[in-house]
Amino acid sequence: MKVKEIMKALEAKHPGEKEYLQAVEEVLVSIEKVYNEHPEFEKAKIVERLVEPDRIFTFRVTWVNDKGEVCTNLGYRVQFNAALGAYKGGLRFHPAVNVSMLKFLGFEQIFKNSLTNLPLGGGKGGADFDPTGKSDAEIMRFCQAFMYELWRNIGPDQDSPAGDVGVGGREIGYLYGAYKKLAREHSTGALTGKSYGWGGSLIRPEATGFGAMYYVERMVKEKKETMKGKKIALSGFGNVAWGAATKAVEMGAKVVAISGPDGVCEIKDGITKEMIDYMLEMRASNRNKVEDMATKFPKAAKFTAGKKAWSVKCDIAMPCAFQNELSEEDANMLIKNGVKFVAEVSNMGCQPGAIAAFQKAKLPFAPGKAVNAGGVATSGLEICQNAGHINWTAEEVDVKLHKIMNDIYDMCVEYGKKGNTIDYVKGANIAGFMRVAKAMLAQGII
Ligand code: GLU
Repeated sequence: MKVKEIMKALEAKHPGEKEYLQAVEEVLVSIEKVYNEHPEFEKAKIVERLVEPDRIFTFRVTWVNDKGEVCTNLGYRVQFNAALGAYKGGLRFHPAVNVSMLKFLGFEQIFKNSLTNLPLGGGKGGADFDPTGKSDAEIMRFCQAFMYELWRNIGPDQDSPAGDVGVGGREIGYLYGAYKKLAREHSTGALTGKSYGWGGSLIRPEATGFGAMYYVERMVKEKKETMKGKKIALSGFGNVAWGAATKAVEMGAKVVAISGPDGVCEIKDGITKEMIDYMLEMRASNRNKVEDMATKFPKAAKFTAGKKAWSVKCDIAMPCAFQNELSEEDANMLIKNGVKFVAEVSNMGCQPGAIAAFQKAKLPFAPGKAVNAGGVATSGLEICQNAGHINWTAEEVDVKLHKIMNDIYDMCVEYGKKGNTIDYVKGANIAGFMRVAKAMLAQGII
């Protein structure tokens, strides 16, 4: 395999699919050497097959808003690769959603799901629907209209969507209600992220953030340091940032910044439990404004409009919001301010220039597909509980999640260690790829 040639062909075939091409290139560069040591991969054209989704569904979603107006959005589901199991991955509702974004997310999901060591293939979906300012009734009608189209193509042994940006517990509730009504199936893992009491798993809401902190704790330990008193800057204030802040405080660290599209809230003395609880209310309001935190807690939080979380001095930076949210310029500012560790929690949260800057500065940098895998892993645990018609306790789920994150960390070190440094990006990409490639080889040319 020659990465340059493959990328040139893909650019010609999928012009303008920026995020997708970026995600593919990052993985191919990491695996090139190992891949070329396995002529059987080349013979079976593993890479050429892996970079194209198995199929993509695109559909019209028409719904009625509170003013009685008819609105139309575009919905998608990308079923990318099923070598390891049924397609699995979230749904994103955001106005910028398009095929390129969902192909990048679906491609990343293949390797992330592989790293969990669970039987999960890779997929992703969503719609160009903007939840900002929508009423609860509008969200429900949109979710129902979305499911009218999608329900035939999902199911616990076929494809199991979950949440992502713009899709949380409430949306999963409406989507699942519509699915049940149409498919006449009950208590299944056709969707995950359900609420506890009707098929959901304890710890699933916290899982992405908890898993990320378990991973970061290992990075910190590797340098013979502890989490106690570490200053953490998080971007976003959604489900992922909420889970990460909860566990960070439990570990004795200090969350000194959270952010939103409107700016940053600096929290000098560290976020409190009360403020973490308030993050849930801020998200549920659909206002999408982090300034609300400073309005509610004027003494503890200082809001600055138009600034990012990366402008706040910290030991650990954790992007938790959107792809490419941390630029090279942001990376240089973090480095100048003495950041010691960077862990992506959003998918592809750092631009390539930012990753290069962190690696040049010899800072431990870990990629989203390893750090945030706890979310989908716990979705896998939800499917297990649904299939077995049982509920595990929070402790049982947390122990399993913690073990999965420790195993992912160990795999990243195994494949990424070079002398005294660990290339977590390379480690995660190679470890994730090997499991998928071997499964594809064993299953023949299909
Ligand atoms: N959207 C999450 C992710 O990026 C979770 C997916 C899932 O639970 O299926 O991994």
